[in-house]
Amino acid sequence: ATCSRQDVPHSIISLLDGFKASKTLFTASKLKVFDVLNSSENLTLEEVAGQINASVLGTERLLEAAVSLGLLERVKQRDTSVYRNTEQASRFLVSDSPMSLHGYILHCNDMVWPLFSHLENAVLEGTSQHERAFGKKNEDVFQDAYYSKDEVKIRFMDAMHSIARVTGNDVATAFDLSPYKTACDIGGCTGAMAYEFTKAHPGLSVIVFDLPQVIEMRRHFKPKEDDDRVSFVAGDFFKDDLPKADLYILARILHDWSDKKLHVLLSKLSKMCTPGCGLLVSEIFLDDERKRPSRALLQALSMTEGKQRSTTEYSDLLEKHGFTLKHIKHTDNLLDAMLFVKEDPNDKRT
Ligand code: SAM
Repeated sequence: ATCSRQDVPHSIISLLDGFKASKTLFTASKLKVFDVLNSSENLTLEEVAGQINASVLGTERLLEAAVSLGLLERVKQRDTSVYRNTEQASRFLVSDSPMSLHGYILHCNDMVWPLFSHLENAVLEGTSQHERAFGKKNEDVFQDAYYSKDEVKIRFMDAMHSIARVTGNDVATAFDLSPYKTACDIGGCTGAMAYEFTKAHPGLSVIVFDLPQVIEMRRHFKPKEDDDRVSFVAGDFFKDDLPKADLYILARILHDWSDKKLHVLLSKLSKMCTPGCGLLVSEIFLDDERKRPSRALLQALSMTEGKQRSTTEYSDLLEKHGFTLKHIKHTDNLLDAMLFVKEDPNDKRT
């Protein structure tokens, strides 16, 4: 059979090249190409190569690939060509821009990429490939993998921080939270999400609750403008008491754990909550047919003990603990949100 021009499998071809494009983005970020082009615009190939301490040939291929992917621009200037960041790269790829995804990109390069290079084994065995990729077993992905070394911990926190800054405002403004005065961000990491909540809701204060290893590093991530309505409490959400609040935030927490583990956390939350207390869940929500978004399904291939769930599955899970779904918000950002309210058990009986 012949292949005519109409049936060239474009989507398959772009999947074939997808990993090369990802790695181009990762490598340009890791070598700080976008930072170099941010501090001095319009650099020649030789100047970029010099500043990133790389070969001219390798830099040329990397920059040309980045231009083809829309990450950089090359413009003619007199008798030479110069490179500069595209607007998108300036906003999201320069490491110290307010909406930078740099931390998350490095996490993808250093942690997710090695795991995915063992995907075949992950599928055959149905387990995380952490030991194959990094030579170490991990029972609890946070305590054993991400937080075993300070350098890896900071990189993971940086990754969370960058996503939270990009999504935080959309999550914080997804619902009317005016009835709530105190919130607790469970697994709130660097506090990036908490600061977005206090910025969006002048009457709200937020306690960030996370593991002691994370809380002790929080000073590395202090925002430019401090806000004394954000405070930090260290503890383990499976074992320790949780701070009292009238709104609990669970942003990118539930997908990391099995239903069984979540019952431990959710029964604690349910006990802490008086009727009327809110619970805000922010995740990527799968549709009921488990077909989209593919971002959630691709993430699930890392085989952590958790799973990706639909809004129906999240509400079934929470209903078992006395929380009633009030609103769902699809934000068109990286994370969506659901708002639940703890119901009065007496109302249920009537
Ligand atoms: N909520 C943050 C956000 O949306 O950017 C961070 C999400 S991150 C995927 C999960 C967070 O849960 C990490 O900050 C991690 O340290 C925290 N965590 C994991 N296990 C925990 C535990 N047992 N007790 C408290 N926090 C925990």
